[in-house]
Amino acid sequence: MTDSQGTSEAVEEKRGFEAEVAKLLKLMVHSVYSEREIFLRELISNASDACDKLRYEALTQPELIKDSGDFTVEIIADKKAGTLTVRDNGIGMGHDDLISNLGTIARSGTEGFMDQFTGDAQKDVQLIGQFGVGFYSVFMVSDDVVVTSRRAGDDEAWQWRSDGEGSYTMRPADADSVRGTEIILHLKEDAKEYLEQIRLQTIIKTYSDHIALPISLAVVGSDDEKTEEPLIANEGSALWTRTKSEITEEQYTEFYRHTGHAYDEPAHTIHYKAEGMQEYSVLLFVPSQRPMNLFENRKSPVKLYVKRVFITDETQEMLPGWLRFMHGIIDSEDLPLNISREMLQNNPVLARISKGVTNKILSEFEKLASKDTEKYEALWENFGAVIKEGLYEDSDRRDALLKISMFRSTGVEGWTTLSDYVSRMKEGQDKIYYVTGADEVSVRKSPQLEGFKAKGIEVLLLSDTVDDFWMQMVTEFDGKAFQSITRGAADLSGIDSSDTAKDTADKVPDSTLTVLTTLIKEQLGDRVSDVRASDRLVETAVCLVADEGGMDIHLERMLKANSQFDGLSKRALEINPSHSLVKAMAERASGDGAIAALSEQVELLYDQARILEGETPDDPAAFAARMSVIMSGSIV
Ligand code: ADP
Repeated sequence: MTDSQGTSEAVEEKRGFEAEVAKLLKLMVHSVYSEREIFLRELISNASDACDKLRYEALTQPELIKDSGDFTVEIIADKKAGTLTVRDNGIGMGHDDLISNLGTIARSGTEGFMDQFTGDAQKDVQLIGQFGVGFYSVFMVSDDVVVTSRRAGDDEAWQWRSDGEGSYTMRPADADSVRGTEIILHLKEDAKEYLEQIRLQTIIKTYSDHIALPISLAVVGSDDEKTEEPLIANEGSALWTRTKSEITEEQYTEFYRHTGHAYDEPAHTIHYKAEGMQEYSVLLFVPSQRPMNLFENRKSPVKLYVKRVFITDETQEMLPGWLRFMHGIIDSEDLPLNISREMLQNNPVLARISKGVTNKILSEFEKLASKDTEKYEALWENFGAVIKEGLYEDSDRRDALLKISMFRSTGVEGWTTLSDYVSRMKEGQDKIYYVTGADEVSVRKSPQLEGFKAKGIEVLLLSDTVDDFWMQMVTEFDGKAFQSITRGAADLSGIDSSDTAKDTADKVPDSTLTVLTTLIKEQLGDRVSDVRASDRLVETAVCLVADEGGMDIHLERMLKANSQFDGLSKRALEINPSHSLVKAMAERASGDGAIAALSEQVELLYDQARILEGETPDDPAAFAARMSVIMSGSIV
């Protein structure tokens, strides 16, 4: 390739980095990253991806690799010049590619990305990794970076150069440049260690041993003028083809980081070879951290290979959306090598592989849940909300998914499974009770829980958005129906409880209560579907409950917030017959002029129930006026 210093009078174009990149660069250069050496891993990783991409394109356009079909990554340390060069003969980048790839942060989910920097080097490095800004790490070790590239099939080559200080230049480069990309780093004074053979060899071995291409390393320009022959610094075979016993944890971790653009450790690794009807190898990982764009994109990032040749990471067909947090590769022996990405859609071989791998993952999760509960709970904590999407959309696997689903509950600290819940059910209890809400803290405070708690009846606490949706599809587990405690009438009288004595004491007699409920019904009219005594309240005076056939309160509110729905449907107002306020109102309700005397109280009671549901009072101004009257009266 061209000597980066050599080109001269060619037209040079100066461009500013996208604002986000400039900010990021500043952060990278001025933060103290403990592992500066990762820049080399990033460059090798990109070089290897570039070769994978060209190898794929050449399947249908063999002329692209007519100059050479052997893919390599070369690393040259020049001690005299103080430069480190990383060169690949992969796909290369054209003029526009250089600008969009090395001048912007082009990944999805980058909105608000910069705001998330904490100043804590460890966490920030992870952020950088997640958003695929790996290339920019070169500015930790270099203040003059020259990228020369020719895209396979193009006649022209381009040179990109920057000191990482906010701008870069573009100029045409020697058109005879060899296909691919060459990156020359003029190393900073304090980064000269990256010219040492041993140091470089160790870095390559540590981070890039799994790369399935030979990485050659040459150190030139030593004082003693001795030029060593380039050596191959990595194993050079696809990691998933090696036997498990020969692969170290570190190698798995580095492979995971490479394929997943990740910086954390894999929480769980699944590596196997399927033989029989379909032959394929699988190396998949569960991350230990939740990627930030998990809910923005439902596409599985798993990479498809055919006989060791990378095909795509862009197909929907690899794994279902509810497993989209899994990273890694699937390598098929049966698909034809010249398969185009379009042909992958609805491809029966791929569908069978996907089915087999999905079932295997499910059984691995089941195994993990029983063998290493702690590890499984951590996995669930991160990805349970995604896995539960499967309960909604994957009817074939619903039962298997219910088995491995974990829940928060009023009955235990930490997580519980449904079978454990069922095993703790009370005598006479035939339903699995649950409540949904926006977050665990507010769900735990639901007034509707009170009666259940008092009777020691366990209730599942669901606070993921998806919970309201799958609960519409799933009716039962182990023959026990699911029942929302904020919907329908709750008759807890048949359930054996140690506390029944307290149950009947202190209640307003039914006949008196009926007078009050009739009065309230009359006043609230259409605003409620019913007014009735509640079995589920202990401390609180009132609550709202959806009708049995209606939509759960939380779901309805969520849909309304997203404007998919207008107007909340009517709900029943339940009142607590043991509450002092209800008792006082009930007494007054049978007296003369009760309607007029209690009308303000009834309005406030109703508003209170709405506020407890996280809603605003029916008429906020009237509510404030009523409160003011009451507050003035209470000042002594
Ligand atoms: P990431 O690799 O995570 O996408 P990078 O900042 O490392 O992020 O690289 C940005 C993009 O630049 C890559 O996605 C790729 O398209 C392109 N790129 C980087 N290095 C090379 C290379 N050696 N050959 C071809 N394209 C490259």
